Amino acid sequence: MTKMFNDYALSENMLQIIHQLGFKKPTEIQHEVIPQSFSNRSIIGQSQTGSGKTHAYLIPLFEQIDTTDASVQKIVIAPTRELAIQIFDEVKKIIHLADDQVGWNARLVIGGTDKNRELQKMKNQPHLIVGTPGRILDFMKEQAIKTASVNTVVLDEADLTIDLGLINEVDQILYRLKEDVQTMIFSATIPKGLQPLLKRYLNNPLHIEIDHGSFGPEKLEHRLVPLRHRNRADLLIKASELINPYIALVFVNKKEDADELANELISKGFEVGLIHGGLKPRERKRMLQELKSLRFQYIVATDLAARGIDIPGISHVFNAQLPQEMDSYIHRVGRTARAGLEGTAVSFYEEKDLPLIEKLEERGLSFTNMDIKQGEWVEVKEWNERKKRERKESELDAQAWQQVRRKKKVKPGYKKKMKSEQERIKQQMKRDQFRKKRK
Ligand code: AMP
Repeated sequence: MTKMFNDYALSENMLQIIHQLGFKKPTEIQHEVIPQSFSNRSIIGQSQTGSGKTHAYLIPLFEQIDTTDASVQKIVIAPTRELAIQIFDEVKKIIHLADDQVGWNARLVIGGTDKNRELQKMKNQPHLIVGTPGRILDFMKEQAIKTASVNTVVLDEADLTIDLGLINEVDQILYRLKEDVQTMIFSATIPKGLQPLLKRYLNNPLHIEIDHGSFGPEKLEHRLVPLRHRNRADLLIKASELINPYIALVFVNKKEDADELANELISKGFEVGLIHGGLKPRERKRMLQELKSLRFQYIVATDLAARGIDIPGISHVFNAQLPQEMDSYIHRVGRTARAGLEGTAVSFYEEKDLPLIEKLEERGLSFTNMDIKQGEWVEVKEWNERKKRERKESELDAQAWQQVRRKKKVKPGYKKKMKSEQERIKQQMKRDQFRKKRK
């Protein structure tokens, strides 16, 4: 039997909206999620972008809003600003198509906007919030989002949330919500890093998995390439010859650098789009149109200029220069790994970028370390190999010193003797460790 939207207990108003959206029948994920979500049970929904999952949760969310209560009842969390904007666009469409009497209220809560103005607006609490983890958490801490009234929370693209190192913020958001809140988590895959959160906050969840056949999992690879004083444009060309990106978004930090890199690429015969804050409004508009027509394989951009623009088909993000801030890195690489494309973020790094890389690793991101040699990708030593070795050596040093016997009475030359004993113990420890490893 074919499934129909009016098989579910939806209001006339909602059926009308769905009709106007042009949806004839529910998709598979909608058929599984919509009826189940009314039971207030938490749900883990495994399905890809493009499966209709946004409406699988938006339809029941809207249906369950109590408009007599001017408080935040529903929260949708998305890992990047662009995704949050995209979801919010769907929210706006639904509100626009609704019966005038309904009175639904929704707000977008993302970084990169004037925080004080947004805080001011929150004096009127919306029913539904769509936003990114950092800003939502920030507003909760400021009591601008009152958490006591929230009864459903959705985390969309949970695997990308992990890849971008944002799961801690999500954890802190969930921690602030009522214990019996309905939690819906959508993800293409369920990575290991998600398990603790699922265990902590989802009580006996319903697991819905939609099989997409040959669809590969959405994944984001963070690849580090040492610059080693090479020319950035040359390295970029070499890397993209191997990767052959559908569209590569190439980031630098300043508009002058963007101009320089774009010119260099153009002089080598590439067609390059350029987007930075120095463009005049008319140039920017024309450039955006050209970008959307997929004319360029390379788009050189700065952070500010790239914010909020939606370019379809970005398969790779290059950091020709790494940013200084962790947030910029996260937003840059969040532009890829969408819509079932397998995303790769390739970053050229120098000595001065190491603190950033270290911070990102502490946040749970894992990098692959590669270089291009004779036109091929080769694995290279980790960026912190030397540091790790030094740390190991000094730990071993300390452990060996603890085992050196100290004599009560000392004779001349005792320091030298103790040092040679410590060295002997250390070497023994190294041999033991080596043997253990081989077993
Ligand atoms: P999503 O997976 O949520 O990104 O949705 C992918 C696209 O499918 C969007 O453009 C939706 O507007 C559209 N869509 C969602 N549900 C349906 C449906 N039941 N019938 C037709 N199109 C749909």
